[in-house]
Amino acid sequence: MTVAILALQGAFAEHGQMLDRLGVENFEIRQKRDLGRSFDALILPGGESTVMGKLLRELDLFDELRERIEKGLPVFGTCAGLILLAKDVEQGTPCFATMNLCARRNAYGRQLGSFHTDGVFAGDEKVPMTFIRAPYISKAGEDVEILAEVDGHIVAARQGNQLVTAFHPELDSDMQVYKYFMAMIEK
Ligand code: GLN
Repeated sequence: MTVAILALQGAFAEHGQMLDRLGVENFEIRQKRDLGRSFDALILPGGESTVMGKLLRELDLFDELRERIEKGLPVFGTCAGLILLAKDVEQGTPCFATMNLCARRNAYGRQLGSFHTDGVFAGDEKVPMTFIRAPYISKAGEDVEILAEVDGHIVAARQGNQLVTAFHPELDSDMQVYKYFMAMIEK
Protein backbone atom coordinates (compact mmCIF):
# COMPACT_ATOMS: atom_id res chain seq x y z
CA MET A 1 0.00 0.00 0.00
CA THR A 2 1.29 3.46 -0.89
CA VAL A 3 -0.15 6.71 0.43
CA ALA A 4 0.46 10.03 -1.31
CA ILE A 5 0.61 13.19 0.82
CA LEU A 6 -0.20 16.57 -0.71
CA ALA A 7 2.90 18.61 0.13
CA LEU A 8 2.27 22.10 -1.19
CA GLN A 9 2.13 23.82 2.17
CA GLY A 10 1.37 23.13 5.84
CA ALA A 11 1.85 20.09 8.09
CA PHE A 12 2.59 17.41 5.50
CA ALA A 13 5.93 16.13 6.86
CA GLU A 14 4.33 14.98 10.13
CA HIS A 15 1.90 12.75 8.22
CA GLY A 16 4.85 11.12 6.50
CA GLN A 17 6.49 10.45 9.86
CA MET A 18 3.32 8.81 11.20
CA LEU A 19 3.03 6.60 8.11
CA ASP A 20 6.71 5.66 8.46
CA ARG A 21 6.01 4.58 12.04
CA LEU A 22 3.21 2.35 10.76
CA GLY A 23 5.51 0.96 8.08
CA VAL A 24 3.29 2.35 5.31
CA GLU A 25 5.03 3.43 2.13
CA ASN A 26 4.40 7.10 1.32
CA PHE A 27 5.56 9.94 -0.90
CA GLU A 28 4.84 13.62 -1.38
CA ILE A 29 2.89 15.25 -4.18
CA ARG A 30 4.53 18.57 -4.97
CA GLN A 31 3.92 18.92 -8.68
CA LYS A 32 1.97 17.47 -11.55
CA ARG A 33 4.51 14.81 -12.50
CA ASP A 34 4.20 13.26 -9.01
CA LEU A 35 0.69 12.14 -10.01
CA GLY A 36 2.36 9.72 -12.43
CA ARG A 37 3.45 7.53 -9.52
CA SER A 38 0.95 4.97 -8.37
CA PHE A 39 -0.79 5.42 -5.02
CA ASP A 40 -3.72 3.84 -3.20
CA ALA A 41 -4.76 6.75 -1.00
CA LEU A 42 -4.22 10.45 -0.44
CA ILE A 43 -3.72 12.67 2.61
CA LEU A 44 -4.64 16.36 2.51
CA PRO A 45 -2.80 18.00 5.42
CA GLY A 46 -3.50 20.96 7.67
CA GLY A 47 -2.24 24.37 6.72
CA GLU A 48 -4.06 27.21 5.02
CA SER A 49 -6.93 25.99 2.87
CA THR A 50 -7.09 29.14 0.75
CA VAL A 51 -3.39 28.90 -0.14
CA MET A 52 -3.61 25.18 -0.85
CA GLY A 53 -6.66 25.66 -3.03
CA LYS A 54 -4.84 28.31 -5.05
CA LEU A 55 -1.70 26.19 -5.46
CA LEU A 56 -3.73 23.13 -6.47
CA ARG A 57 -5.05 25.09 -9.43
CA GLU A 58 -1.80 26.90 -10.28
CA LEU A 59 0.10 23.62 -10.36
CA ASP A 60 -2.65 21.95 -12.36
CA LEU A 61 -3.27 19.27 -9.74
CA PHE A 62 -6.89 20.14 -9.03
CA ASP A 63 -8.81 18.38 -11.83
CA GLU A 64 -7.00 15.07 -11.66
CA LEU A 65 -7.12 14.81 -7.88
CA ARG A 66 -10.78 15.75 -7.77
CA GLU A 67 -11.61 13.15 -10.38
CA ARG A 68 -9.72 10.45 -8.50
CA ILE A 69 -11.49 11.31 -5.24
CA GLU A 70 -14.86 11.24 -6.99
CA LYS A 71 -14.00 7.83 -8.43
CA GLY A 72 -13.36 6.45 -4.94
CA LEU A 73 -9.70 7.11 -4.06
CA PRO A 74 -9.50 6.89 -0.24
CA VAL A 75 -8.69 10.36 1.07
CA PHE A 76 -8.00 11.68 4.55
CA GLY A 77 -8.23 15.44 5.15
CA THR A 78 -7.02 17.01 8.39
CA CYS A 79 -8.08 20.53 9.37
CA ALA A 80 -7.45 22.59 6.20
CA GLY A 81 -7.76 19.26 4.36
CA LEU A 82 -11.28 18.95 5.75
CA ILE A 83 -12.10 22.38 4.35
CA LEU A 84 -10.73 21.37 0.92
CA LEU A 85 -13.17 18.44 0.77
CA ALA A 86 -16.28 20.21 2.09
CA LYS A 87 -19.09 21.04 -0.34
CA ASP A 88 -19.92 24.19 1.60
CA VAL A 89 -17.53 26.44 3.49
CA GLU A 90 -18.54 29.20 5.87
CA GLN A 91 -16.06 32.10 5.72
CA GLY A 92 -14.21 30.52 2.83
CA THR A 93 -14.52 29.02 -0.65
CA PRO A 94 -15.15 25.35 -1.44
CA CYS A 95 -12.31 23.56 -3.24
CA PHE A 96 -12.79 19.88 -4.17
CA ALA A 97 -16.34 20.02 -2.77
CA THR A 98 -16.68 16.24 -2.82
CA MET A 99 -17.97 15.74 0.72
CA ASN A 100 -21.53 16.40 1.69
CA LEU A 101 -20.92 18.70 4.63
CA CYS A 102 -20.51 22.31 5.61
CA ALA A 103 -17.23 23.38 7.24
CA ARG A 104 -17.04 26.49 9.37
CA ARG A 105 -13.54 27.91 8.97
CA ASN A 106 -11.74 29.29 12.03
CA ALA A 107 -14.78 28.13 13.96
CA TYR A 108 -13.26 28.61 17.38
CA GLY A 109 -12.18 32.20 16.81
CA ARG A 110 -8.71 33.50 16.05
CA GLN A 111 -7.41 33.78 19.61
CA LEU A 112 -8.93 30.69 21.21
CA GLY A 113 -8.59 28.63 18.06
CA SER A 114 -5.87 26.33 19.36
CA PHE A 115 -6.48 23.82 22.12
CA HIS A 116 -5.97 20.22 23.06
CA THR A 117 -8.49 17.71 24.37
CA ASP A 118 -9.34 14.01 24.31
CA GLY A 119 -12.44 12.72 22.61
CA VAL A 120 -14.07 9.48 21.56
CA PHE A 121 -13.34 8.61 17.93
CA ALA A 122 -15.46 6.18 15.88
CA GLY A 123 -17.33 4.94 18.93
CA ASP A 124 -14.16 3.47 20.42
CA GLU A 125 -11.58 4.72 22.81
CA LYS A 126 -10.62 8.32 23.38
CA VAL A 127 -7.94 9.81 21.16
CA PRO A 128 -5.89 12.97 21.72
CA MET A 129 -7.18 15.87 19.64
CA THR A 130 -5.06 18.91 18.87
CA PHE A 131 -6.92 21.81 17.28
CA ILE A 132 -5.08 24.67 15.55
CA ARG A 133 -7.25 27.49 14.20
CA ALA A 134 -9.54 24.65 13.38
CA PRO A 135 -12.81 24.38 11.55
CA TYR A 136 -15.70 22.25 12.70
CA ILE A 137 -18.46 20.67 10.69
CA SER A 138 -21.56 22.79 11.08
CA LYS A 139 -23.77 20.57 8.91
CA ALA A 140 -23.44 16.99 7.73
CA GLY A 141 -25.50 15.35 4.98
CA GLU A 142 -27.42 12.13 5.49
CA ASP A 143 -24.74 10.01 3.86
CA VAL A 144 -22.09 11.33 6.24
CA GLU A 145 -21.18 9.25 9.29
CA ILE A 146 -20.25 11.33 12.33
CA LEU A 147 -17.14 9.88 14.00
CA ALA A 148 -16.40 12.40 16.75
CA GLU A 149 -17.93 15.39 18.47
CA VAL A 150 -16.41 17.88 20.90
CA ASP A 151 -18.62 20.27 22.85
CA GLY A 152 -21.55 19.47 20.61
CA HIS A 153 -19.65 20.16 17.39
CA ILE A 154 -18.74 17.54 14.78
CA VAL A 155 -14.96 17.22 14.50
CA ALA A 156 -14.54 13.97 12.55
CA ALA A 157 -16.65 12.37 9.85
CA ARG A 158 -16.63 9.90 6.99
CA GLN A 159 -18.50 9.64 3.74
CA GLY A 160 -17.60 6.49 1.82
CA ASN A 161 -13.97 6.83 0.73
CA GLN A 162 -13.51 10.20 2.43
CA LEU A 163 -12.37 10.73 6.05
CA VAL A 164 -11.91 14.11 7.72
CA THR A 165 -10.80 15.36 11.12
CA ALA A 166 -10.85 18.97 12.30
CA PHE A 167 -7.97 18.08 14.63
CA HIS A 168 -4.38 17.03 13.82
CA PRO A 169 -3.66 13.37 14.63
CA GLU A 170 -0.22 13.80 13.02
CA LEU A 171 0.80 16.08 15.91
CA ASP A 172 0.08 13.48 18.61
CA SER A 173 1.51 10.02 18.91
CA ASP A 174 -1.74 8.06 18.98
CA MET A 175 -2.25 5.88 15.89
CA GLN A 176 -5.97 5.10 16.07
CA VAL A 177 -7.12 7.55 13.42
CA TYR A 178 -4.42 6.33 11.01
CA LYS A 179 -5.36 2.73 11.67
CA TYR A 180 -8.97 3.61 10.89
CA PHE A 181 -7.83 5.15 7.59
CA MET A 182 -5.65 2.12 6.77
CA ALA A 183 -8.70 -0.12 7.31
CA MET A 184 -10.67 2.09 4.90
CA ILE A 185 -7.95 1.68 2.26
CA GLU A 186 -7.77 -2.08 2.66
CA LYS A 187 -11.53 -2.52 2.09
N1 GLN B 1 -7.50 27.94 9.55
C1 GLN B 1 -6.96 27.14 8.52
C2 GLN B 1 -7.77 27.27 7.22
O1 GLN B 1 -8.78 27.88 7.22
C3 GLN B 1 -6.90 25.68 8.94
C4 GLN B 1 -5.93 25.52 10.07
C5 GLN B 1 -5.18 24.23 10.07
O2 GLN B 1 -5.16 23.49 9.09
N2 GLN B 1 -4.50 23.98 11.15
O3 GLN B 1 -7.41 26.76 6.22
